Amino acid sequence: MYDPACIFCRIASGEIPAERVLETEHALVFRDIHPAAPVHCLVIPKQHIPTANELDAVPAEALADLLRAAAAAAKALGVAEDGWRLVANVNRDGGQEVFHLHLHLLGGRRLRWPVG
Ligand code: 5GP
Ligand code: ZN
Repeated sequence: MYDPACIFCRIASGEIPAERVLETEHALVFRDIHPAAPVHCLVIPKQHIPTANELDAVPAEALADLLRAAAAAAKALGVAEDGWRLVANVNRDGGQEVFHLHLHLLGGRRLRWPVG
């Protein structure tokens, strides 16, 4: 549930400060510390889960809440109409650096596709 060695668990608990955008029952959205776009947030479940390979451990209700939190944040940040992107990096080939599941919410500029 809570891993004291995990930076995102510590952000979710409020121990480590972050620029919070919104919070729901199961999810938290905060600004990425090294933004790659004008809007760059991280959407995390409050529950500790390392990667998207372990999604079976997350109740369906919490997963739905996570996705809805991303959409609500996009709306709140004013990028819903122009568009935005959700990205989950998984393990080595995905370039994952923090092993607490997170979705990158990117927007505010025209994003390239396909990604590198
Ligand atoms: P990953 O490569 O694991 O998908 O992305 C991790 C993201 O977390 C990176 O974009 C990085 O900038 C961000 N990040 C790492 N540590 C912190 C932190 O302490 N606070 C915030 N707000 N973002 C962080
Ligand atoms: Zn964690």
